[in-house]
Amino acid sequence: MMQSRLPVVLLALIGLLSVIPQASAQEAPARSIVNIAPDLYRVQNNNHYTVFLVTSEGIIMSDPINRDFSTWLKGELQQRFNRPVRYVLYTHHDWDHASGGAVFADTAQFIGHHNMPETLTLPAGELPLPENVRKMDANGNRRLERGEAPKNMMATFDLTDANKDGALSGAELARGPLNDVHPPTRTFSDRQTVTLGGKTVEMVYIGEAHARDSSVIYFPKERVVFGADVMQAKRLPQAVTPNIGAYIDAMRTIEALDFDIAATGHALAGTKADVTALREYLEEVVSTVASGIAAGRSLKEIQQTAKFDRVKGWERGDTQPPIHIAQVYATLKGTR
Ligand SMILES: [Zn+2]
Repeated sequence: MMQSRLPVVLLALIGLLSVIPQASAQEAPARSIVNIAPDLYRVQNNNHYTVFLVTSEGIIMSDPINRDFSTWLKGELQQRFNRPVRYVLYTHHDWDHASGGAVFADTAQFIGHHNMPETLTLPAGELPLPENVRKMDANGNRRLERGEAPKNMMATFDLTDANKDGALSGAELARGPLNDVHPPTRTFSDRQTVTLGGKTVEMVYIGEAHARDSSVIYFPKERVVFGADVMQAKRLPQAVTPNIGAYIDAMRTIEALDFDIAATGHALAGTKADVTALREYLEEVVSTVASGIAAGRSLKEIQQTAKFDRVKGWERGDTQPPIHIAQVYATLKGTR
């Protein structure tokens, strides 16, 4: 149990770190609504994006991102289209994409992959505090009280405190800041078709890359795919969890769809060619590491000599390859 929860802890902590500058800046969030295909819109909230499709009978949207954003979006949708949100389709459970859906609960159904509900529940039993948190537990009661938590944890403290007792347990930290994620009212295992007002949207499970419930939202007539964290355009994923094979498989599942625009949950949107380029990079990492190992080179030597020209100029194109190489090296050496 603890083993399988560890990546969740790491991802939650990475999430915490990446949200600090925004939370402390106290500026109005950068928000915009851009039409990308007939009746289909991509919406920005700072570094996060979602999409919605307008039909005659209501709106189908993807990730709600957070409560403040969703409250703003609900007002915009009412004003611009005077139609309710009928469906919220989750790309995955991570708090920074999936929070805030409760704002639409009066009119919407929520659909996520069938692994999603489990990610929202607390792991059973007592779990130790993660090692980096243990040092913060000044009174040694195996709980992190509000007063012990560092500033950068305050933005997500309440979202993590599942039983609202003012202290974070090992189990609460292992689950992550998911208090405001509205659970799916319906789940699916492989594909789920949603029809409304004569329009069709498909949810496609892409496997366990990044999260156990990773899915993309496919708009076949609009020829658009929306995906967060796994599908990226000219941007490398942070870590390729649980392994690079899951990412390659996910890219192939997405590439099998017939579409033009790759609308992403972060940063640039792109095209199907960007998805292919990301898959080709991932495959190149595998072949580079495999041939390096075969030639008897150390991890460090492989990291120092590897060159991936196709990711030049991509976001994180300089920083992530050594990390991906190390992950693949460990996988091929059987050390993880
Ligand atoms: Zn993300």
